[in-house]
Amino acid sequence: MKTWQDKEEFKKIFTEKAHVLWEKDLQDMTLNEVYQTVAYMVRDLVSQEWIRTNKVYAEKKVKQVYYFSIEFLLGRLLESNLIGIGMEKVCRDGLQDLGWDLEDIIPQERDPGLGNGGLGRLAACFIDSLAALHLPGHGCSIRYQYGLFNQRIVDDQQVELPDNWLVNGYPWEVKKVDKAVNVHFGGNAYMRPTEDGDLECVYEKYSSVRAVPYDVPVIGYHNNTVNTLRLWRAEYSREDMYRELTLGDRHRAFLYKENVQLISRFLYPEDSREDGRRLRLMQEYFMVSAGLQSIVRHYKKKYRKSMYRFDQYINIHINDTHPALVVPELMRILMDEEGISWEAAWNVTVRTVGYTNHTILPEAMERWSIPMFQSLLPRIYLIVEEINNRWLQEVRALYPEDEARARDVAVLWDGQVHMAHLAVLGSHSINGVAEIHSQILRDSTLHQFYTCFPDRFSNKTNGISHRRWLIQSNPQLASLIDDTIGDAWRLDAAKLVDLEPFTGDAAFLQQLGEVKRARKDIMATYIKQKYNVTVPADSIFDIQIKRIHLYKRQLLNILHILHLYYLLKTNPKMRITPRTFLFGGKAAAGYGEAKQTIKLINVVAGMVNRDRRVSRQMHVLFLENYNVSLGQILFPAADVSEQISTAGKEASGTGNMKFMMNGAVTMGTMDGANVEIHREVGDDNCVIFGLRADEVMDYYVNGGYSSWNMYSSDSHIRHLMNSLVDGSIGGESFGMLYESLLDRNDEYFVLKDFAAYCDAQKEISERYNERKKWLHSSAVNIAHSGYFSSDRTIQQYASDIWHIKPVKI
Ligand SMILES: *Cc1c(COP(=O)(O)O)cnc(C)c1O
Repeated sequence: MKTWQDKEEFKKIFTEKAHVLWEKDLQDMTLNEVYQTVAYMVRDLVSQEWIRTNKVYAEKKVKQVYYFSIEFLLGRLLESNLIGIGMEKVCRDGLQDLGWDLEDIIPQERDPGLGNGGLGRLAACFIDSLAALHLPGHGCSIRYQYGLFNQRIVDDQQVELPDNWLVNGYPWEVKKVDKAVNVHFGGNAYMRPTEDGDLECVYEKYSSVRAVPYDVPVIGYHNNTVNTLRLWRAEYSREDMYRELTLGDRHRAFLYKENVQLISRFLYPEDSREDGRRLRLMQEYFMVSAGLQSIVRHYKKKYRKSMYRFDQYINIHINDTHPALVVPELMRILMDEEGISWEAAWNVTVRTVGYTNHTILPEAMERWSIPMFQSLLPRIYLIVEEINNRWLQEVRALYPEDEARARDVAVLWDGQVHMAHLAVLGSHSINGVAEIHSQILRDSTLHQFYTCFPDRFSNKTNGISHRRWLIQSNPQLASLIDDTIGDAWRLDAAKLVDLEPFTGDAAFLQQLGEVKRARKDIMATYIKQKYNVTVPADSIFDIQIKRIHLYKRQLLNILHILHLYYLLKTNPKMRITPRTFLFGGKAAAGYGEAKQTIKLINVVAGMVNRDRRVSRQMHVLFLENYNVSLGQILFPAADVSEQISTAGKEASGTGNMKFMMNGAVTMGTMDGANVEIHREVGDDNCVIFGLRADEVMDYYVNGGYSSWNMYSSDSHIRHLMNSLVDGSIGGESFGMLYESLLDRNDEYFVLKDFAAYCDAQKEISERYNERKKWLHSSAVNIAHSGYFSSDRTIQQYASDIWHIKPVKI
């Protein structure tokens, strides 16, 4: 790969580039212009390898995988790309000579708001790992003009501001006008007999939307691989407008234009109790159809193989059900455009598609009303109907008179299209994202499918990019690890286990303590600057950052804090290990309980922090606008990782892995990947509490839990619950939370697990006070975090599901 020989060359190229881009003297440049200049310079360096990577894949006709995801939560790219091409130091030194600090330039880049949370961040870690492992794999998604909102806290409450992340342009993207395709919506579709006695589909009077790809390079780590993240944007063309006029009138043409522009305008929040569901379905089909058309076109042009062999060269992976329309869309292309029979097309489709399930929360299962689906996607609906008919015919033949079974596996039922069932039926591989989650899929959620296709099910425990979440975000720890075991772990995270012999080494633990302290100081400085709050860096940094959701139980955390506050108020002599409780996370704009939880945290924080005596022992703070960049400051600073979801609800979690890799001790329930973290580090190095998933399930099925009984029998709980509604917390009332805990019988077992959580928190405090043991635990967590590198996860996908091999560029 082309590089900058030294800082002198960097400065020379920078100066030339800056002049061309901005027509200004260097001293007049803004920090943002400096950022953009360096970003374009990085792109220049990788452009040849980007072209070469695609050329090599096509010439060797290697099997490629396309990872379809409605979100990619990338985070900033400048630093990760500089690290990837090994040019961070040259750039830093060169900029310094020119009078800039790279640390001031990096924050100029805005986080692309192309995701909500864990699912989108997983997709970003996956494409990072694909490139690092020189695997031929690419991302496919939508170029949302506005990301998820920016979160502000005003008067203790969340306020949502639009995230116009593209205002200053995005230097990492390349618009590929010549690769645009058309996607069709609406109109009429019906079958008619052909001359030779077959059936063919007539699809007419549809509206056509132009999909234009914007490509972002995905740069490998110290290799020459540059894969592609392809983001689609919806546009209308003059011809399409004219077409609308001929099909209808000026009104239809006007509506069409408005609608097209809306398709790629907004990212929708994950808890979509929102309106605009129709637009979301349009987005899903838009991404799927554009992505598939471009893959098929490339395959025909470069591979020149028969469409019957498509699956031998192409794998499509769908991240949750949002892209599940790849199944009927690929069927449509194979049948309507390539003239292949239903049976052959179905075989090719199933062998091409793989599906990862991400949730078992019933309210999060995607379903579309048939009338809406049918009017928006008439041709796709005919195909889904046929898939459903053939499948139910099979099921009813095998299990006659068993309508309950038909209902459990139907794609169309009760006036709805069931996307998870479509995804399962159309895939040769179905996986969960942590062992407990995959087990629940097999045993209950998808049990009937599992009995039909046991070989298609597997587990692929999630992972995180150790490049972003350790090498990049915690250079202090990375460099200590280098000094201790060498730097081979950077290429192979499993080698972190070489730290194991040092977890009892006093000198190493001392240094580890210093690194953690340095990272806590950085965090404390950020908090001082942004919030003008002083948090003591020798207190326990106890952090819960994730989307706000009842099942994630931020409520349990804040109720325990409130409980501590009351204890300290009534027993002024009481001493606890000083703690700083930090929260962060966005609530979906329409999710009342989540927004009230944020308010409760902020009101309690105000009460605690303003109290002179209590605030000597504890601080509470809600950090605004949690995103990838804020995470890069928070994870390295954590002593305690709060992973306290109701057992059986969190599919995997990945925040838990980022904390672990940075030496935090997990305080967790036996849920998601916490189970594997516990297995890796043992009881001595994490604190597990609360109901197990089978106990939770047993209460759901057989009853036997009454939160009112908890209220009556436990005076602490009674005090806490009363204070939610009697105005004693800042004069506010938290009725929605009170109702969910008592009137709706505490669906997530917050009160049931409360005592166990308090005990577990005491246990944490006691352990923290034994400094040597605590640092040992921290070291054990780091040493065993290699398993949670997404490189391990991607290697499993590559060998078990995709059957793709590394390609050296
Ligand atoms: C990792 C990450 C998440 C996922 O966190 P969980 O604790 O697994 O829910 C969400 N948002 C951001 C910005 C992340 O980096």
